Amino acid sequence: MKLQADRIGPLDMFKIGVGPSSSHTVGPMVAALQFRKVLEERVLPQVGDDARLRLEVELYGSLSATGVGHGTDGAVCAGLQGLHPRFSQTDDIWAVMPALEKEPTVLIGDFKLTFQPTEHLKWLGWTMDVKPLPHPNTMRFRLFENELLKFEQIILSVGGGFIERLDAAGSRTGSADTEEPDVELPYPFNTAEEFLAVCARSGETPWNVIIANQEVLGLSEAELRKQLDAILDTMDDCIERGVRTDGILPGGLNVRRRAKDLYARLPEPSARNGNDLRPSIYAIAVNEENAAGGRVVTAPTNGSSGLIPAVWRTLKEQHDLSRETLQNGLIVASVIGALVKTHASISGAEVGCQGEVGTSCAMAAAGAVAMLGGNIKQIEQAAEIGIEHHLGMTCDPIKGLVQIPCIERNAMGAVKALNAAALSLASDGHHLISLDRVLQVMKETGLDMNQKYKETATGGLALG
Ligand code: SF4
Repeated sequence: MKLQADRIGPLDMFKIGVGPSSSHTVGPMVAALQFRKVLEERVLPQVGDDARLRLEVELYGSLSATGVGHGTDGAVCAGLQGLHPRFSQTDDIWAVMPALEKEPTVLIGDFKLTFQPTEHLKWLGWTMDVKPLPHPNTMRFRLFENELLKFEQIILSVGGGFIERLDAAGSRTGSADTEEPDVELPYPFNTAEEFLAVCARSGETPWNVIIANQEVLGLSEAELRKQLDAILDTMDDCIERGVRTDGILPGGLNVRRRAKDLYARLPEPSARNGNDLRPSIYAIAVNEENAAGGRVVTAPTNGSSGLIPAVWRTLKEQHDLSRETLQNGLIVASVIGALVKTHASISGAEVGCQGEVGTSCAMAAAGAVAMLGGNIKQIEQAAEIGIEHHLGMTCDPIKGLVQIPCIERNAMGAVKALNAAALSLASDGHHLISLDRVLQVMKETGLDMNQKYKETATGGLALG
């Protein structure tokens, strides 16, 4: 099914999961879990009682180049063993791979499948069967019965925890985790211009437009708001843990956590002299938690998970915003994320960090304008500013860890988002470059960007 922006809802963009990466941790874990489900329901009932069963997982492209630092191996093991990024405890998730190294057995119902991570998880290159990869983050899951290939699935981790399957003909089947009923929506749109038009025509607020669409897709407003509440709580919890935890982040870079120290030295409001470090500290707090493999929300990815919680928390403290306003802000932010996903990409491996922190900045700026009472034109303008000033930003994390430059980059993005919102609110929303146009440029820039700057650990800061 062709990707359509109005089908991607707030709960698709904001997923509660586990750090450090949505494309390299959450996506592979969900993919492994989904492969396990297919085995359980369709494949294993057809194998012989005494068959010897063995699994293999192949990681290609960027997943292979930076997967060790991103915990891709541990995430795949956890998914194969039936753990879920949202519903399983983070400590349990990271305990699976060491356990499989000792006892290499995946249990699915009564079936015992051999899977020894060191031996059966393969880190491969940029071609599959001598053909170019369908996506920089490609995985192949295989089941062998008595050493003969019985079943395989190719799954792509396309950013933000979204996954897609490749069908037998080699076509991408759309987001496997967001299959929606084929119904007509009250407010269809696929571009920013169309979204602006449906809001103007209907006279509805932008969040009510999305709520009406979601209701037709089967999600009631009450349920949506309940889930958004859980998302806001998870974001806040993450900030709280972040500003109370110190120590060294895992992975070998010896990056010292600093949110706690910065927070402790935050001056009282009266002594801030206009220089409010709160958004930066909150963003760093969340991204340090993410880097430590903790519980975070994709916004739209894990690498960019700190920016939106930082902006929401700061605005809540500054303006005493209600819970409903904060939810409405998330809904508006999700529209921008959906437009980027549809017309450009939210994957650092596909278009660089402009797709992650750039997108998050645009989402946050748009949500901030909505929460502060701006109109739809100002919302679009803020999102455009957020993307425009991240165009061309590369993705070059050192050692494949989501630490340098990712953590600080969220702090910079949060400040830019607040500035973009303030600039838009101070204007009448008139601007020359549309959001649709800037998304087109973002995609072209991402395609032109040298591969070594797209999450491959072969260029830029990754070289030290
Ligand atoms: S540099 Fe940006 S895109 Fe790359 S992993 Fe870090 S946050 Fe994600």
